[in-house]
Amino acid sequence: MSVERTRVVVAGACGRMGRETCKAVLDAEDMELVGVCDTAFAGGNLADVVEGAPGIRISGALDDAIAESSPDVVVDFTTPSAVMENIRTAVRRSTSIVVGTTGVALQDLASEDKLARESGFGILIAPNFAIGAVLMMKFAEEASKHLPTVEIIELHHDRKLDAPSGTALITAEKIAGARGEVDCGGPQPEARGALHKGVRIHSVRLPGLVAHQEVIFGGVGQTLTIRHDSLDRTSFMPGVLLAVRKMKEIRGIVYGLDRIL
Ligand code: NAP
Repeated sequence: MSVERTRVVVAGACGRMGRETCKAVLDAEDMELVGVCDTAFAGGNLADVVEGAPGIRISGALDDAIAESSPDVVVDFTTPSAVMENIRTAVRRSTSIVVGTTGVALQDLASEDKLARESGFGILIAPNFAIGAVLMMKFAEEASKHLPTVEIIELHHDRKLDAPSGTALITAEKIAGARGEVDCGGPQPEARGALHKGVRIHSVRLPGLVAHQEVIFGGVGQTLTIRHDSLDRTSFMPGVLLAVRKMKEIRGIVYGLDRIL
């Protein structure tokens, strides 16, 4: 008996994450890549951009890709300046969306959340799809109850548009939630990183890096370092595919991969 495959559109399909997502969807037996969009390659053919991909026309806008291919789920890996409009487009089209792009302003999505709940589809937003990174955040949250003095160092490739990373911001929020806000300040604030919820975050941007984070706790006569490394963008794909599969059950906004693990 043939199983009905989930129809997927990838937004930002020609970017670093979008290409990996196209490959992962094409390799998944229970999914079908029915459409793609990317402003950089609008009007082109996916086969010319993603090795091994079939000939799918690249739309210039998500609205066109949804209209042309009627997907069950959109996966968005675009840019912080494009993502909010893409979420609104998916909602207008009553289509579930999995969002990996950073820069989502959750506080501005109340009406989209309500509409998605009422209409029976989902919006899953996860700043980090690497399962190891989710565990790193969970362990950091636990450690902060016992060792409240902590700083975060996040390291990413030099073309990353935002700093600090979404993962670092969430880690700081989880730590602050577990221990309360404590500014571990000190002299020379300009050399002490950004302050978020009382947690110092240091952002390193260098070619050669992918996505890495250390959470360093200090205590009496001891330190504890919790570190996660995404060595390759394939590290995000099991989490992305899990999210696509879970969209059947999700109504409204769900924030964070930990909510569906
Ligand atoms: P990238 O290589 O710059 O790719 C983004 C692509 O989206 C570009 O080709 C861009 O085209 C295209 N684009 C921009 N606006 C668009 C629109 N309105 N519709 C369709 N396509 C559009 O970026 P990346 O490295 O793949 O990262 C994408 C996002 O994912 C970033 O926000 C990054 O921080 C995030 N990320 C998340 C995770 C996670 O686990 N959640 C992991 C890694 C990265 P132009 O060149 O024309 O702008």
